[in-house]
Amino acid sequence: MEISHMYMQRPFFAVQFPDSYNYGFLGNTIGHEFFHQFSPKRVNEFWQKNERYIESTDCYTEFYDDICFDLSLYDSVTNGTKVREVCTKGSTDLGENMPDVEGARVAFETMRAELGEVALKERAMPEFHYTNEQMFFVAMAQLHCDKDLNNHQYLADDMLDEDPHASGNVRVNGIAMQMAEFADAFHCQPGDPMVTAEEEKCYLLPTD
Ligand SMILES: [Zn+2]
Repeated sequence: MEISHMYMQRPFFAVQFPDSYNYGFLGNTIGHEFFHQFSPKRVNEFWQKNERYIESTDCYTEFYDDICFDLSLYDSVTNGTKVREVCTKGSTDLGENMPDVEGARVAFETMRAELGEVALKERAMPEFHYTNEQMFFVAMAQLHCDKDLNNHQYLADDMLDEDPHASGNVRVNGIAMQMAEFADAFHCQPGDPMVTAEEEKCYLLPTD
């Protein structure tokens, strides 16, 4: 596992930032890098044949396959702009998506252990109305922020290319949708777009 010293500075980390922001930015980054050790291309034969591992990675592939957007794209055949549904390629991006979610869960749990349950619901900074648990997700979203995501063609290319990383908005939404802590922090209700039913969530590690 490699963590570049470049991460130990803004915007990933600063002592002046709220702890929850540092956990959301640097904590997510370290968690992601750690879980790369469990990416399909890195695991040995034992894991590759392990039933639970296969079930988990299949779950992640299918979950991300279903993250789709209606995009306005220029169609060179008809010479016009058409709305087309573009979906993430879950199998191409599996080796990044799984570490995204598993790393975020561990980063959040580490923050919970460090700050305590009560502080999670308290303001991260007096100047902002975000609580610490909300600030964690705000920082996580900033980690994957990309100014080009309003450009539909760019977004479509990013979603369909062979790059193992999903587009930034997919990474942010995927993590949030897989974590009950997000729904709890932002008071989402069952059935809301960002809430995934428990039986559709994916776990690499046993939860009990
Ligand atoms: Zn990665």
